[in-house]
Amino acid sequence: MNSDVAIIGGGPAGLMAAEVLSAAGVPVNLYDAMPSVGRKFLLAGKGGMNLTHSEPADRFAGRYGERRQQIEALLADFGAAVVRAWAQGLGVETFVGSSGRVFPTDMKAAPLLRAWLQRLRHPAGGGPGVRFHMRHRWLGWTDDGRTLRFETPSGEQRVQARAVVLALGGGSWARLGSNGAWVPLLAARGVAVAPLLPANCGFDVAGGWSEHFRSRFAGQPFKNVAIRFETDAVPAFDRQGEFVATQTGVEGSLVYAASALVRQQIVRAGEATLLLDLLPAWTPERVQREVAHPRGSRSLSSHLKSRLGLDGIKTAALYERLGKDAMNDPVQLAAAIKALPLTLVAARPIDEAISSAGGVLFEALDSGLMCEQLPGVFCAGEMLDWEAPTGGYLLTSCLASGHRAGQGVLDWLQRAK
Ligand SMILES: Cc1cc2nc3c(=O)[nH]c(=O)nc-3n(C[C@H](O)[C@H](O)[C@H](O)COP(=O)(O)OP(=O)(O)OC[C@H]3O[C@@H](n4cnc5c(N)ncnc54)[C@H](O)[C@@H]3O)c2cc1C
Repeated sequence: MNSDVAIIGGGPAGLMAAEVLSAAGVPVNLYDAMPSVGRKFLLAGKGGMNLTHSEPADRFAGRYGERRQQIEALLADFGAAVVRAWAQGLGVETFVGSSGRVFPTDMKAAPLLRAWLQRLRHPAGGGPGVRFHMRHRWLGWTDDGRTLRFETPSGEQRVQARAVVLALGGGSWARLGSNGAWVPLLAARGVAVAPLLPANCGFDVAGGWSEHFRSRFAGQPFKNVAIRFETDAVPAFDRQGEFVATQTGVEGSLVYAASALVRQQIVRAGEATLLLDLLPAWTPERVQREVAHPRGSRSLSSHLKSRLGLDGIKTAALYERLGKDAMNDPVQLAAAIKALPLTLVAARPIDEAISSAGGVLFEALDSGLMCEQLPGVFCAGEMLDWEAPTGGYLLTSCLASGHRAGQGVLDWLQRAK
């Protein structure tokens, strides 16, 4: 089969590349291994789809850390304001939540995806709609490197295309389609790829939780706490929020926010110790005063509850990490309430992570996201080597890179005429 442009991967990045191309009147065939597109996008909508963030552009770009420069160049064309206008163009209004995060008014992904697919199939100008080919798993190229190979229910199919956009996602939640199987395929063709690693992920605590703690508190949140994390080698992290105890450790938004630094420290040193502040709004002096207040015949637990408002998982974590003797020493106890050490020893497996770090190096791509080693082959989305915290930054740069890859293909087709 001949195809003008083949897009492989129907997540937000691939769909955005398809949109740019079909809007320009280019016939597009989009292939995906799954029975339907946008499965991770739909899952993102389950907990409230966080499309982008409303903070100033400079702060926004800073979220991409070491890849700030490369992502900022993509956001110049498709930043947060454009994402909101794009959603509005699909009939989906957005609002800014109290945290500055931007959501569709109904918080859902499904209506947005439905309207988007409808527009891709039937573009307003009456041009050729995008043709979707589901259950087409890309297997790489034929030996001569010219033809795409797909595994389909009716056997292997081969496709030649004038240009190819790979938007195959990262390596998390493989059951939704992106399994990272593309890494060796690109590496074998000389494209530089950094190994995929878990990002926005949970961690295992050193020695695990005790059976007592696990059975009562796994799944429970630590609310209104702060995490501080400082080592010689990494920038300081000090933020308030909440996270959840799991069977083996910790996960949730505050842990995800620290996860890149924690993961790097574990790689460097084998472990990373966070300091957990159980009462971030209290000064150490106030905590000391209240802990030392005479408690008469009351138990320590009811003292902590009545004088400091500590109970449940917070008190349990103190017992868990301090042991009985230190719990009964007011100085050690007060210090631990403000800085309870929590040593983490391993990131949870990538399949459980919200996103992945690593991927195709920007140094292997030109400014239109075409592989220097593979003329006519473009890459977009989470499969590129960047990472960012949750907060809408993931989807925004997937959309922005899909947009850039679509533009890159248009330029390439123009040059090839
Ligand atoms: C639980 C959860 C919640 C999230 N919530 C948010 C959020 O609120 N805000 C936010 O910004 N981000 C969120 N994210 C992250 C966001 O969903 C992803 O970053 C984004 O979907 C990645 O887009 P992508 O197009 O690069 O890849 P994907 O969405 O992963 O799409 C890749 C596509 O490629 C296909 N594919 C892979 N390999 C092949 C192959 N060999 N052949 C054919 N097809 C293939 C897959 O089937 C898939 O359809 C969340 C992620 C998770 C897991």
